[in-house]
Amino acid sequence: MTRLAIRTYPDPVLAKKAESVGEITPELSQLMQDMVQTMYESDGVGLAAPQVGHSIRLITIDETGPKERKSPMIILNPVLSDGSGTKESEESCLSLPTFTCKVTRSEFITVRGQNEKGEDIEIKAEGLLAIILQHECDHLEGKTLVDHASRLKRTMYASKVKKWQKD
Ligand SMILES: [Zn+2]
Repeated sequence: MTRLAIRTYPDPVLAKKAESVGEITPELSQLMQDMVQTMYESDGVGLAAPQVGHSIRLITIDETGPKERKSPMIILNPVLSDGSGTKESEESCLSLPTFTCKVTRSEFITVRGQNEKGEDIEIKAEGLLAIILQHECDHLEGKTLVDHASRLKRTMYASKVKKWQKD
């Protein structure tokens, strides 16, 4: 397995709406495994394909984190529905180094999609898992935490990133 490079803001691939996944090719299966590995090695609990430069509807999640690695999930073409309740969450993102932002999420959600074998799945999620799912699905719409932040916060982060790129 290969650790993939994580794309960071303002890489345009992060702002693009991702394409649906069709046939599961050997290359796609490899990408799924590499994404799980990359997620763990980057100390993340979720990763969306655009974050590794592929604008396709594929996410990987493990709410137990890189130390436990107890519940890896691979979801193709995830669709969220039945959102209910609200929960404030303080989030960060592998594509936005040092950035954190409070986001209002649904407390309970249902997600439908396919697993790594292309079989239909349905997951009813709450708590941390529900939050990660919403965060990763945002990525597939070309949306990141920066888009949830205030204009001022966004501008400040953008100039910080510009400064890093110069140094
Ligand atoms: Zn993210």
